[in-house]
Amino acid sequence: MLKISGLRVAYGGIQAVKGASLEVRQGELVSLIGANGAGKTTTLKAITGTQPVAEGDIEYQGKSIRGQGAWDLVKQGLVMVPEGRGTFTRMSITENLLMGAFTRNDKEIDADVEKVFALFPRLKERRNQLAGTMSGGEQQMLAMGRALMARPKVLLLDEPSMGLSPIMVDKIFEVVDDIHKQGVTVLLVEQNASRALQLANRGYVMESGEITMEGEAKALLNDPKVRAAYLGE
Ligand code: ATP
Repeated sequence: MLKISGLRVAYGGIQAVKGASLEVRQGELVSLIGANGAGKTTTLKAITGTQPVAEGDIEYQGKSIRGQGAWDLVKQGLVMVPEGRGTFTRMSITENLLMGAFTRNDKEIDADVEKVFALFPRLKERRNQLAGTMSGGEQQMLAMGRALMARPKVLLLDEPSMGLSPIMVDKIFEVVDDIHKQGVTVLLVEQNASRALQLANRGYVMESGEITMEGEAKALLNDPKVRAAYLGE
């Protein structure tokens, strides 16, 4: 469904991603883990066309999407929830959700807002509130809800649990699991390696811009090197 081969991305002279390859098959939840600065966010930005690719290719549904912009990709069902959420702070929750449907012109948009409210009752309670006045966890819910409004086939999630309280972290991972079970293919970037691998079918470990390990999520969870480096053992 999504395949990256030999991806290189640089910021000026700094090589952030150095020849990374990874694949997400239809219906999978794949976790990409790694330390701060490993190049995970840069990889997602390269996929969504917000950071130029120096070398390598990115295929989505069997075709190269290298060089395509975010708008075209959202229309094709490839949708990212960025780190730091990026909600429209001076718009209400409902308005933010409707913005997520900007590439659609069908008649089911209102019904989809209700589906998002069913997934996140908290957003329904606060639907007229300005996004900027909500907690970090609520904004993460909103960012995910907004992405769902685009009816994604593949959802790219960049550190959805970052900076959230333990209860909120539980809720967010529960919803990621739900979204996956509803048939959405997911690429999950996380520093919370343990939780991310527990949910995933497969995983990749990124270190200094390179993929250094890959495999079934359970095997990675039990791998002594992963346990020592990322699970605090
Ligand atoms: P984090 O968990 O902190 O987001 P990450 O694995 O997502 O880490 P990236 O954000 O992709 O890592 O960063 C990879 C490398 O690229 C780092 O060395 C970082 O300092 C550098 N980098 C990221 N963004 C920029 C930028 N806009 N300009 C210059 N260097 C950057």
